[in-house]
Amino acid sequence: MDALKKGWFSEICTLWPGMCLSLEVEEILHSEKSKYQDIMVLKTKSHGRVLTLDGIIQCTEADEFSYQEMISYLPLCSHPCPKKVLIIGGGDGGVAREVAKHPDVETIIQCEIDQRVVELSKEFLPFMATGFENPKLSLHIGDGFKFMGEHQREFDVIITDSSDPVGPAEALFEERYFHLMKNALRDGGIICSQAENIWGGSGLDIANRVYKYCQTLFSSAAYGYCLVPTYPTGLIGFVLGSLDSKTNFKEPLRILSNEEQEQMKLRYYSPDIHRSAFVLPRFARKVME
Ligand code: SAM
Repeated sequence: MDALKKGWFSEICTLWPGMCLSLEVEEILHSEKSKYQDIMVLKTKSHGRVLTLDGIIQCTEADEFSYQEMISYLPLCSHPCPKKVLIIGGGDGGVAREVAKHPDVETIIQCEIDQRVVELSKEFLPFMATGFENPKLSLHIGDGFKFMGEHQREFDVIITDSSDPVGPAEALFEERYFHLMKNALRDGGIICSQAENIWGGSGLDIANRVYKYCQTLFSSAAYGYCLVPTYPTGLIGFVLGSLDSKTNFKEPLRILSNEEQEQMKLRYYSPDIHRSAFVLPRFARKVME
């Protein structure tokens, strides 16, 4: 089956056998093969602009805010003072956009492997690529795994906003990468990584595997999730790890007031959503705990 057929894009991936999400396409705005992956930007009937890499949906204009806010504020609001933040991946700019809004963040370093994703996001996804314009941000083009190995005791928070573990992001789901992240953190530092979902295909296996790395390596760890209708099974999870044993991910340390939430134009994250993100259904809890 072709990914593009009769005006519809279908996300077909070996990680989720026998199922796919389809979106009706109004226009293919761009399509190319970069050094690392196939990149497409589509204009869809129901979800606005959509970025796909190797045929996998990375973000849609309609629901991207949920993922960007949660992968950013779950770790940032669990840290007492997240001044220096590292983002790995995140070529669309959405995570940088959110991290820069947090009142305590002073410096953001980002390492994305594919310059073309950044350039095309600036051209076609300006609502996300605003993140790259923030003066707090320094962008480095390179492999996140290698970058991590070159930095020690530097960051308060490390966010890995990677694509799925097939292609260039595979190494970002390996145990060695979690060791490198641990070494790159300052005292009391926190990591947060994209960690698939708790439902079918390979989702729960991957989520559980990376969660176990965090449980083994960090003084406290948690798995949370958020709702994103255009990701496989309608949700996506995150693993979090802290060097501080007192970190309780389930209760935000930094409570953003209603006024701050309005000023930051948050649409998904709130302190209540933060708490609820870590409440797992019984079947998933049994596997993860
Ligand atoms: N939110 C999305 C998701 O979960 O599907 C991820 C979006 S973001 C566009 C993923 C980015 O990770 C891509 O731009 C990709 O180029 C980047 N990436 C993949 N492997 C990488 C690596 N080894 N180092 C740095 N960036 C990487």
